[in-house]
Amino acid sequence: MSGGFDVVVIGSGVGGGAVAHALAPTGARIAILERGARLPREDRNWDPEAVYADAVYKSDERWVDGTGRAFRPGQFYYVGGHSKVFGATMFRFRREDFSAMEHAGGLSPAWPIDYETLEPYYARAERLFGVHGEAGADPTEPPRSGPYPHPPLRHNPVIAEVAERLRAQGLRPFPMPTSVQDHDGGACVRCNTCDGFPCRLGAKGDAETRLIDPVLQRENVSLRTEAQVARLLADASGRRVVAAELADGTEVRGDLFVLAAGAVNSAAILLRSVHAKHPDGLANASGMVGRHYMNHNCTAVMAIRPLHANREAFQKTLALNDFYLDDGEGGPPLGNVQLLGKIMEPMLRSEIRAVPRWARAWLAAHSVDWYAMSEDLPHPDSRVTVRGDGTIVLDWRRTNVAAHATLVAKVRTLLRAAGFSIVLTRAFSKDTPSHQCGTVRFGHDPAEAPLDPFCKAHDLDNLYVVDASFFPSSAAVNPALTVAAQALRAGEHIAATRLH
Ligand SMILES: Cc1cc2nc3c(=O)[nH]c(=O)nc-3n(C[C@H](O)[C@H](O)[C@H](O)COP(=O)(O)OP(=O)(O)OC[C@H]3O[C@@H](n4cnc5c(N)ncnc54)[C@H](O)[C@@H]3O)c2cc1C
Repeated sequence: MSGGFDVVVIGSGVGGGAVAHALAPTGARIAILERGARLPREDRNWDPEAVYADAVYKSDERWVDGTGRAFRPGQFYYVGGHSKVFGATMFRFRREDFSAMEHAGGLSPAWPIDYETLEPYYARAERLFGVHGEAGADPTEPPRSGPYPHPPLRHNPVIAEVAERLRAQGLRPFPMPTSVQDHDGGACVRCNTCDGFPCRLGAKGDAETRLIDPVLQRENVSLRTEAQVARLLADASGRRVVAAELADGTEVRGDLFVLAAGAVNSAAILLRSVHAKHPDGLANASGMVGRHYMNHNCTAVMAIRPLHANREAFQKTLALNDFYLDDGEGGPPLGNVQLLGKIMEPMLRSEIRAVPRWARAWLAAHSVDWYAMSEDLPHPDSRVTVRGDGTIVLDWRRTNVAAHATLVAKVRTLLRAAGFSIVLTRAFSKDTPSHQCGTVRFGHDPAEAPLDPFCKAHDLDNLYVVDASFFPSSAAVNPALTVAAQALRAGEHIAATRLH
């Protein structure tokens, strides 16, 4: 696989899979280079001891934070990327997320495209991932061209009761859009290990099962695993990428390159790709590559009724956007609240070590588990850089933390009012870059954004970046569907303008 390809896609996650899906019907010879291997389907996929306590699927690599502390980031390198372990929550961003919006912590900037431009691709992405949901139920939902591909997931009895208790407080909970095959003929068994675990049955709509495997049915598309791209090589003019150089020193040549290695790794690959004409790395004349790193402000919330054991397994079916566009009292936006996958004792072990095991087990057996998420705003000093030895430095400057604290306080109050006398909260650590985005943002002005509105590098003729790097703002709902939608849009544009 070292001869010239028409297109070389780097990364087989949500962005890489979606762009390959859009490009494959052109018949172009497409090579997908993936750093990881296939994640095996095996019993321990669903074992919280293996997945959480032993972290068997997490990468072993070490990054360094802004203080120089080395840490093992929550990175998962497999065919399908982070979607192999994602929670399968598939929100569209709100129409308002595409415009500038004032938050307590500062301004969330406008995108160079509006919601209507992305709507057809959201619809396509929902079909590809087989998303379940109920159109019209979410009070902040943007206009849709059609219903969800599948009806909403049914609530288990505990969640149905919680929904009623929230409604009684005047809130508007709604069925969460989710890509699991819980429909006639679907393989989902509604287990307790959807969020943060790989699916042993392949019943989660992840990028491997829904994008990569289908495109590999075509003869013109090939996948090479364990092919870690170290940097990109450009020609003497500095306008064209000619090859991807792998960590083993070999090169894969091509006419067009699409980077989709995830927001941290794509920035790192560009920064490592120093060239006489690009002394600060490829696509980086603006100096913006690696800057504006965002990752949502997230808190896990365990709501406990001491006299009610929660024996239900699958609980990720409900969300709340009542505080998304404002705080419910006309103040600034706070964020989204959604159910988390079922928390189990091994998942608490590293978080609350001082608490005895039996107490952790009791907490997990009595909790309904939530996830509160607030927007992180772009800051130029929130940044990915690369040390001389190649080590990634991730200096995340959290923003908008006061808004998040207000959201968590509100969640605590409303869950108490819903009958949960104990509400425990724990912020997600800085070492968990699950919703990483923003490091190679798109925009009209080459001085401000490395990518144009179709995700082509302003500085190069044949380089696109289609993972979560392109986000100019992070919004406050889960990112994967937006990554997929824009990758489909960029892919369609590339097919029409470059491969005809
Ligand atoms: C535990 C967890 C739960 C999540 N839950 C949700 C959820 O419920 N809903 C949601 O919307 N989002 C969720 N996310 C986030 C979601 O998975 C990401 O937003 C999405 O996968 C981003 O797509 P991407 O294309 O940017 O990156 P990825 O999907 O991560 O793809 C990047 C790919 O590039 C590969 N790669 C990296 N470096 C190189 C290299 N040097 N050379 C070659 N290949 C490389 C990686 O192995 C990977 O396959 C979750 C993430 C995690 C970790």
